[in-house]
Amino acid sequence: MAAGSAIQIPTRLPLLLTHESVLLPGSTMRTSVDSPRNMQLVRSRLLKGTSLRSTIIGVIPNTSDPTSDCDDLPNLHRIGTAALAVQVVGSNWPKPHYTLLVTGLCRFQILQLLKEKPYPVAEVQQLDRLEQFTNGHKSEEELGELSEQFYKYAVQLVEMLDMSVPAVAKLRRLLDNLPREALPDILTSIIRTTNQEKLQILDAVRLEERFKMTIPLLVRQIEGLKLLQKTRKSKQDEDKRVVAIRPNRRITHGSITEDEEEEEDHDDIVMLERKIRTSSMSEQALKVCLKEIKRLKKMPQSMPEYALTRNYLELMVELPWNKSTKDRLEIRAARIVLDNDHYAMEKLKKRVLEYLAVRQLKNNLKGPILCFVGPPGVGKTSVGRSIAKTLGREFHRIALGGVCDQSDIRGHRRTYVGSMPGRIINGLKTVGVNNPVFLLDEVDKLAKSLQGDPAAALLEVLDPEQNHSFTDHYLNVAFDLSQVLFIATANTTATIPPALLDRMEVIQVPGYTQEEKIEIAHRHLIPKQLELHGLTPQQIQIPQVTTLGIITRYTREAGVRALDRKLGAICRAVAVKVAEGQHKEAKPDRAEVGEGEDCKEHITEDAKPESISDTADLALPPEMPILIDFHALKDILGPPLYDMEVSERLSQPGVAIGLAWTPLGGEIMFVEASRMDGEGQLTLTGQLGDVMKESAHLAISWLRSNAKRYQLTNASGSFDLLDNTDIHLHFPAGAVTKDGPSAGVTIVTCLASLFSGRLVCSDVAMTGEITLRGLVLPVGGIKDKVLAAHRAGLKRIIIPQRNEKDLEEIAAHVRQELTFVLAACLDEVLNAAFDGGFAGRARLEHFNSKL
Ligand code: ADP
Repeated sequence: MAAGSAIQIPTRLPLLLTHESVLLPGSTMRTSVDSPRNMQLVRSRLLKGTSLRSTIIGVIPNTSDPTSDCDDLPNLHRIGTAALAVQVVGSNWPKPHYTLLVTGLCRFQILQLLKEKPYPVAEVQQLDRLEQFTNGHKSEEELGELSEQFYKYAVQLVEMLDMSVPAVAKLRRLLDNLPREALPDILTSIIRTTNQEKLQILDAVRLEERFKMTIPLLVRQIEGLKLLQKTRKSKQDEDKRVVAIRPNRRITHGSITEDEEEEEDHDDIVMLERKIRTSSMSEQALKVCLKEIKRLKKMPQSMPEYALTRNYLELMVELPWNKSTKDRLEIRAARIVLDNDHYAMEKLKKRVLEYLAVRQLKNNLKGPILCFVGPPGVGKTSVGRSIAKTLGREFHRIALGGVCDQSDIRGHRRTYVGSMPGRIINGLKTVGVNNPVFLLDEVDKLAKSLQGDPAAALLEVLDPEQNHSFTDHYLNVAFDLSQVLFIATANTTATIPPALLDRMEVIQVPGYTQEEKIEIAHRHLIPKQLELHGLTPQQIQIPQVTTLGIITRYTREAGVRALDRKLGAICRAVAVKVAEGQHKEAKPDRAEVGEGEDCKEHITEDAKPESISDTADLALPPEMPILIDFHALKDILGPPLYDMEVSERLSQPGVAIGLAWTPLGGEIMFVEASRMDGEGQLTLTGQLGDVMKESAHLAISWLRSNAKRYQLTNASGSFDLLDNTDIHLHFPAGAVTKDGPSAGVTIVTCLASLFSGRLVCSDVAMTGEITLRGLVLPVGGIKDKVLAAHRAGLKRIIIPQRNEKDLEEIAAHVRQELTFVLAACLDEVLNAAFDGGFAGRARLEHFNSKL
């Protein structure tokens, strides 16, 4: 640095003309040089010079160098800065130029221009006495004060900067070490100033004047900095506050609404915490919840986990940890409720009452889970609902049909996106008490999949030894299910996983007879439908014979669901009529009544209300009550869906009626056989299972071996029935898979009819497994099968002898209408199936039902 080194600048200085920037003594500047004169100066003086003096040039500010060296030199600024060229860098891109790094030494004044070309050279006078700086100017009072003031400002300014930056620390040190006189120039070049201001400082040759001019610049800079720091600080504070409450929060609203929202959220969390603390959850659950709420408080709301945790905590609070309804168990009342709600089902009601009686005697029964098994629509669900009613408990139905994922039962772990608790916990949340009646509907329709076996998850739920600490994956804490009363329903036990079946007590709920259905319809279904449709018994009348018509011609089911639907359809149609009638004038004329009759709405004599008589005061339209007879039935429900087709279908040899059992109840099944020329092949159609196919082979083998005895021949008269003959057996309802051994006797009868050419009696149905030796073995589902035959209007039923005991379950009036043949061997079956018996040695036994 020039200061203190007592440099004397040469009196003749080559001049570098600059326009853009102002170099002040004590500062350094990089400048680009490309005009011809300046380039020349660099080339001939700086690059060629060898001494230190040759690197000293005069930098003239505010004077643009002419672009061509033929142009005249412009007016030069009077005062310039003598500078030391520290570095010269040349480049040819984009055009030849040099970049000079120059350090200002001191001011000078041009006395006389000595030459203009190739670069200007002038005789100069040094203005700042460089050596004088070191001695100081302390003598002058005013200057002293000014410089002191300047120094303070300078210190204040520098201290406002970040002292951790090395350059700032160095500057702070320089402030103390440098002579005060050098400070105005140095600080002016550091602080933010315009070129114009710098030029003024350069022109301020007198030191006092220079101090005076630079102080306002310093003050301005200090104020600017203060302002900047203030806004920065307030922003930082705000940022800090936001971070403290909820970092990363998106600012979408105005600050006021955002604050409000924050407050609200905060309040919510506080509320939630209070709820958790006051809830009666288990100790383990409380611990988990408090931990989670602690996490929640620290979590930004935008985090996906925030909502997840919050939902979890809300569920935990909502769960009925300790809330239960009080059981009001009184067996007599329970019996009345069950009887009132359901007709028939004696066996089921008896067992349910036993179950409830034991519960009454012994609180906290860890008894078996009841499982009602029976065809659809026989009232399994509604008995479950009645049980809840008798106990005064909440009822919740959990449909398990098609559930194939164990997390449906046990919930998803909370790490999953969209995880939820399982159906059991959800059900508890819905009912809000911990001792509801849960009806696990359709446990036989649970499916397995890759996501695990839901039946296995149910095992834990249903096991009284385990379910006091059932752990749902979502909750991840144990919940006591021991107070919940589980009842299961199924259509068949065949598809219930054995381990699950083992935990349950199966109660069979068989289908209903026609008579039972009629009673159910008139006692329960019709009143319920009337109420549903806003009708009264004065407006509609459905005689029992119509109900029977609906049961036989429009439904074919073991339960009463379709019947209920049809009754609903009738009520809807009547509701339209009634509503139309209400719009009519209160006093319609007689012609309308006549029309009404034509429209198949008849009024029976006894049902005719007073209002239809001559009384003028009519409360109801005259055609009330609307009587539903067969015409009306056809009008509303359309043509009958099922006809009594049995006798028609048995008009050819080779057809016999079998009885089948399906989860939907019993069915009658027409087995058909035909023969044709061929190579002795047996064709079976109708989607048969392996067992049924084997029955067909057994039947043929038995017939072939007994062909002579029964005089059965093929088309060419041979006793070898398959000689040049193919047989085709078909089981209708081809779309439904059938299996089981009970069709054995039917196949034999059907083939015997085919080969003998005789017709099977049209009112006989049969069921029974056969053996190769011609014995008839017992089969299952007798009650359902008998009811199906009864529904279809058949009169005689051939069943295996060893199934005799099953007949006791059948209602007496049904037994009275049927004749049962108990067969021990196939001889007996054939004898009973054909009018006048079947040739061959046989023992025929008619069983007239007197059980
Ligand atoms: P499931 O569960 O066996 O499939 P539901 O319990 O849903 O059958 O019964 C269907 C309808 O039939 C219900 O409206 C029910 O009230 C009625 N129902 C069935 N059986 C009876 C009965 N024995 N007495 C009265 N109503 C019955």
